[in-house]
Amino acid sequence: MGHDHPHGKPENVLKFSQDNKVIVDEGPLKKMFEHPDVKNRKIVAFSIIGAYRKGKSFFLDYCLRFLYANFPSINYPNNPVESPDDWPGSEDEPLAGFSWRSGSTRDTTGIVMWNDIFLHTIETNGEKIAIVVMDTQGLFDNETSPMDNSRIFALGTLISSIQVLNLSGVVQEDQLQYLQFATEFAKFAADDSHGSSGKPFQNLIFLIRDWSNPDDHAFGTEGGESYLKYFLKVKSGQKEELKSVRQFIHSSFEEISCALLPHPGKSVAGGGRNIQQNKKYDGNWGAMDEDFKIELFNLIENLLKTERLVMKKINGKDLKGSEFLEYVQQYFKLFQS
Ligand code: GDP
Ligand code: MG
Repeated sequence: MGHDHPHGKPENVLKFSQDNKVIVDEGPLKKMFEHPDVKNRKIVAFSIIGAYRKGKSFFLDYCLRFLYANFPSINYPNNPVESPDDWPGSEDEPLAGFSWRSGSTRDTTGIVMWNDIFLHTIETNGEKIAIVVMDTQGLFDNETSPMDNSRIFALGTLISSIQVLNLSGVVQEDQLQYLQFATEFAKFAADDSHGSSGKPFQNLIFLIRDWSNPDDHAFGTEGGESYLKYFLKVKSGQKEELKSVRQFIHSSFEEISCALLPHPGKSVAGGGRNIQQNKKYDGNWGAMDEDFKIELFNLIENLLKTERLVMKKINGKDLKGSEFLEYVQQYFKLFQS
């Protein structure tokens, strides 16, 4: 479903050709990061990654709605942001932004950036920041080759400061091993760009969709924290291989967290195999199951509150827009060869 958005559009800045080559669209990248209001600001890069058809773009579009309610942007500098608390809008408003859809065909490949960038001044120190939102495709995804999968994950990790790993159901051991493999790839590419903490990357958030064990670990971020402790815990008697996966993940990201979301209900997800059922659904929140709606809104407010926004760092130094552009171009080139 792709309702036009009044202030921005998705730009597929990196994609794969039939013969597995990386194709980069420099035009929109330059336009975004050389923008006079962005080039000197520090960059917060918020990214989501995971297999297709698991509600990533849908989630991001609600994030965009929150961001537009709170911040002006390069395409909408006079945004009045008058009533940010009403950010979810009316219950029948169609969802616009990154294209999301039902059905099994993929419509995001590679890396897609929202071409509008949000502008914010941190109250406590007057620092000016710019928030970029990106959508990625290709992880634990049978249609994408393992090579593309790891390239995409590595790139997403390299160029984001907040990486949301969108998973469905539960965290599986093979997904953690995959995460290690792809992060190793990214670490190798980043070479010596580790921060003062010795960790090259910033925030990793495991986002678990369709969580069905709220009695064990409650929905939201608190239940997520306890589930995270559970699945990342190095257990005695565990195989060395599995222990090292956990240690590796801890040594790669400055902060790791987790959040659990309930199933959204049949209007949103369709009824099992009968995906026809939600063909006409336009993404409005009136049709969501009540507990999903509450948890979704809470989570977005929690993830995107200004104290939680972390800036993209290289060698422990925050990147400005113009430096971020150089950095992104450099890594895109590296993966082209
Ligand atoms: P993406 O490929 O991961 O970006 O997935 P989309 O955002 O395009 O959504 C794919 C389908 O999943 C759409 O029909 C959405 O209505 C539906 N959907 C959105 N959120 C959820 C969720 O939390 N759980 C489930 N089961 N489906 C969802
Ligand atoms: Mg998508």
